[in-house]
Amino acid sequence: MTPTSQKIRFFRERIPSFECQPGCHDCCGPVTTSTEEMARLPVKSEEEHEAALANLSCPHLGAKGCQVYAERPLICRLFGTTPRLACPNGKRPEVMIDPRIEQQIHQFFSETRHVLV
Ligand code: SF4
Ligand code: SF4
Repeated sequence: MTPTSQKIRFFRERIPSFECQPGCHDCCGPVTTSTEEMARLPVKSEEEHEAALANLSCPHLGAKGCQVYAERPLICRLFGTTPRLACPNGKRPEVMIDPRIEQQIHQFFSETRHVLV
């Protein structure tokens, strides 16, 4: 396991989970992710990327929601777990993310090459 994948696993384990409004995907849109996480996602064609971007959507958003839920990027996991990325529908975990972990995640974002999903 590379140091980057260790970090990703470390962060994934520390981002609290919570139940979304059923069927909601209001916070999905164009997101960026590390190349390491990108490599775990199914490859989408240029046309699929362009179509998603034109709708300010994500190429992995299907009729039934996120199609890559188990491998969704850190930013998707972070959404709703911090007051800085609050869910517009008021959903949240019982305990929000530890601010120190959130800060480490932002540091990871700034230090690691990210690409558009
Ligand atoms: S975090 Fe909020 S906006 Fe995002 S999918 Fe869940 S309920 Fe919807
Ligand atoms: S990867 Fe999944 S959760 Fe993240 S923006 Fe795309 S569809 Fe939404």
